[in-house]
Amino acid sequence: MTAKFEADSGKLLSEDYRPLEIEREIREFWEKNNIQEKLMEFREKNNLGVAGYVEGPPTLNGIPHVGHARGRVIKDLRFRWRTMQGYFVPFWAGWDCQGLPVELEVEKLLGVKNKRELVERVGEERFIEECKKTIMRYHREWVEADRKLGIFIDQEKAYWTYLDNYIEREWQYLKRAWEQGLLEEGYYVVAYCPGCQTSLSSAEVGYEGSYKEVEDPSLYFKFRLAESQNEYFLVWTTMPFTIITDMMLAVHPEAEYAKVKVGDEKWLIARQRVEPVMQELGIEKYEIAETVTGKSLEGLKYEYPLKDLIPRQAELDKHPLVHRVICEEFVDVNTATGVVHLSPGNGEEDFSAAQKRGVPVFAPFDDEVKFTEETGIFSGVFARDADAMVVEELRKRGALVKVETIRHEYPTCWRSHHKIVWLARREYFLRTDKINSKVVEAAEKVEYFFEAPKNRFLSFLKEGKPWCISRERVWGAPLPIWVCKKCGAKTFIASKKELIEKAVESPPPNFELHKPWIDHILIECEKCGNLMHREPFVLDTWHNSGASPYARFTDEEFQKYVPTEFLTEGIDQTRGWANSLLLEHVILTGKAEAPYKAFLFQGLTQDAKGRKMSKSLGNIIEVNKLLEKASADVCRFYLMRKCSPIEFMNFDLNELSRRPYQVLSTLYHLNRFFVQNAEYDNFNPQKHTLEWAKKHGHLKKPDLWLISKLQKTIEECTVGLEKCEFNTALAELEDFVVEIVSRFYVPMIRKELWTDDPETLNRRLAIYACLWHVLKTVTLLSNPATPFLSEALYQKIYRRLDPTLHESVNFESWPKPDEKLRDKALEEDFENLLQCLSIVYSARQAAKLKRRWPLRIAVIVASEKICESLRNLHEVFIELANVKAAEYFQQPPENIKAEATAGKWSYVTEKGITVFIDVYRDEKLLGEGLMRDVARRVQSLRKELGYVPTDILDNVHIAGLEEENVRLLRPYLSDMAELVRAKKVHLHSGLPEAEAKWHEYPLDEKKIYIAIA
Ligand SMILES: [Zn+2]
Ligand SMILES: [Zn+2]
Repeated sequence: MTAKFEADSGKLLSEDYRPLEIEREIREFWEKNNIQEKLMEFREKNNLGVAGYVEGPPTLNGIPHVGHARGRVIKDLRFRWRTMQGYFVPFWAGWDCQGLPVELEVEKLLGVKNKRELVERVGEERFIEECKKTIMRYHREWVEADRKLGIFIDQEKAYWTYLDNYIEREWQYLKRAWEQGLLEEGYYVVAYCPGCQTSLSSAEVGYEGSYKEVEDPSLYFKFRLAESQNEYFLVWTTMPFTIITDMMLAVHPEAEYAKVKVGDEKWLIARQRVEPVMQELGIEKYEIAETVTGKSLEGLKYEYPLKDLIPRQAELDKHPLVHRVICEEFVDVNTATGVVHLSPGNGEEDFSAAQKRGVPVFAPFDDEVKFTEETGIFSGVFARDADAMVVEELRKRGALVKVETIRHEYPTCWRSHHKIVWLARREYFLRTDKINSKVVEAAEKVEYFFEAPKNRFLSFLKEGKPWCISRERVWGAPLPIWVCKKCGAKTFIASKKELIEKAVESPPPNFELHKPWIDHILIECEKCGNLMHREPFVLDTWHNSGASPYARFTDEEFQKYVPTEFLTEGIDQTRGWANSLLLEHVILTGKAEAPYKAFLFQGLTQDAKGRKMSKSLGNIIEVNKLLEKASADVCRFYLMRKCSPIEFMNFDLNELSRRPYQVLSTLYHLNRFFVQNAEYDNFNPQKHTLEWAKKHGHLKKPDLWLISKLQKTIEECTVGLEKCEFNTALAELEDFVVEIVSRFYVPMIRKELWTDDPETLNRRLAIYACLWHVLKTVTLLSNPATPFLSEALYQKIYRRLDPTLHESVNFESWPKPDEKLRDKALEEDFENLLQCLSIVYSARQAAKLKRRWPLRIAVIVASEKICESLRNLHEVFIELANVKAAEYFQQPPENIKAEATAGKWSYVTEKGITVFIDVYRDEKLLGEGLMRDVARRVQSLRKELGYVPTDILDNVHIAGLEEENVRLLRPYLSDMAELVRAKKVHLHSGLPEAEAKWHEYPLDEKKIYIAIA
């Protein structure tokens, strides 16, 4: 072998695409050279503008899985793209550290079952230390996942939602609400989780998957009218325990009610519900005695049957408004009996009906949702456990009509899956209902990229409920309100400094803004001089993270970066972060403005079978484990390419090694092909530019076509990214790499590169100029999606050939399409050519003629337009069709038609185009075809033995051919030598001699032997 040229590239770029090796090397390159830091500094100084960003902080209560990876890759892709476009993006990390999700994780770790046990056995101080340890442990996992994935987020500048400086700025939001009268204390009915022992916001109740099918009693019972001995209201409920807190019955004012005679009794029930209810109760003998309007029932007193058991109810019964019938529009007369019992202590509508009329609220529950002493025999019983007791007591008193069990959808806690209970509790609320029109107006101005998530978000916002922001938990930002126990005065403290100044006793120096320490601080009441205690609540964790646009920045940064240009989170954040960010920003600024100009909601990521990833199914794919064996680039490409970002994605491990790997591998090998040939011919990118090639007329139609197609790809790829259609952007890129460059362009020019003839050197250099331009541009376009491969190609090829290039591909500018390089007429010609070519292949297949075998002639019958295109590209066409000649007609020539019927031509018609190919091969054509067949086997042996394409072999030996074939092949030996890059090819008749290292290959069901020496 003569190693005329030993390309460095051969060593730099391994023969196979090995992404894991590349990624390890590039990660080290980035870290050793501080590329990320330099990039930030560079863009902070040199930019076309600022693209504000605030990180949606992942909660540090679990290990990152592929669903998280998808979101993080979208963020990083966007960051790299905007940075290349010349914008400065403050792509700084942030971590959500507090709140129920973290507390529950720690409770589990400590083996604690509920809050009381936690406070008694563990203590708040130790609990908080454990919370901090836990978030730090998960933090390490997240940073490692970011590093493996190549996420260029600045970890040094991360914000932490639990730190004092963050909490102080969060308080600024609340202070604005307090000043505007939007922060209120009140008795409200809240959704309450008995497991977590805290209230949930209405947003949390609606979380994806929180409604579960559960079993509940289905109870019909009757309350007797006080003024009558045999008239009853018939009522239905699935929550018998609420009868303990019953205060009123409600009917619809306009509806008709019937008095139904059943035995000796008359039951009051909505007229239209008589038949279905009687049927359900299995009562056949009944009649309607009379009908009355709902309105006429208003004010009637009924006998509350459990008075003797519940001391407080006996007292309340004396109240003039208690245990009476009221009229309410919300009563639905299309279900149950059309008579509803109301428990203001356990229902939202019930509560407001009571508030409106001044009816007392009876909410006798402790933190574990157990009944208090006011309830007599029910004292100490957990609310839902009282169901059976209540049913039994009603039975004893003859008030029970029927009880069964039903299965229905009922909201459960999104964290602990306990059945939610509605309770009237003392809470703090942001009266976001008062500013709802501003909130909706702000949200309408935001770009969401896709209609469905936009509509979903807006319709949720329009509900406009008050936001319960108090939580009866430990690990959270404290509510900074102190109350005087004596006079009830309240003070809002907005900073640590203010708190220290007002504290009766100075707190210790290491004091932090958390429970339990902050609760030890007492301040003096300005009104009466008594001591004020802090309200014991912490803030909803969504309020905590929703404060990030103000809390994570300085005032100056806040001015520069907010509203942010673009944010993206999972669709589940419709009710979460996207919502809390918006509400808090409107409160803070007083304007109908969102803190983000655009918000992309991502679909969730599921397993290969479309199931939700969960611990119980054991189908969670952790990022760090996955990337020990899988390539980050391939994963990134797969995550972005498989479907639209708003779709639910089924992540299938088996798919990684298929198409995504093949696409990246093709890009890798194209670059390798380019650099090996280019270096062999001493290509100099500074000298041999496209302009140089154009000026000297060295560019041919395939080159111009390729360059034109590149412009289209740049344009469509950019548009795809702008619209957040990452999958379409990458599909464009993939199509360009795999189809245009690899499948079509390379075969068009390969032969021209297959020589080292000095006469044609300039033409070869022009091809390299073209490939340099095209492949380098593709490397830049790929960078946002596959940064490791792009950087590797940039360093190992482009920067090595042109040391004046930037230190990293990330400093490059995003390519812009150049209209001057676009030639739409030429693109159309090529499109027609490719279409005809595929019909040629069909015709060959029909006649079992391999593409490698040259044929005498192809005749194309097509429209004038297509014929014109083929004439324009005649040389390219006969080269790719592998025919010696081609003729183009609009009508099939008569003689060919006749000969085709006789079998001399193979022909195929598709889309109005007919291709005839001459199936007859003379000795010359047979010989050349055979030569190509054998050459192909020599090529694969070359590769097997590790020769690079530019290596020139001394001798190639062929043996084992039949005599007839030897005769056919002999005239083509020099052609073959050129094709396989060898000095000489030797033919041996008969079986090979023993001394050579022979390799056996099949050829048309026989065997041939090849040796390279
Ligand atoms: Zn819960
Ligand atoms: Zn006071």
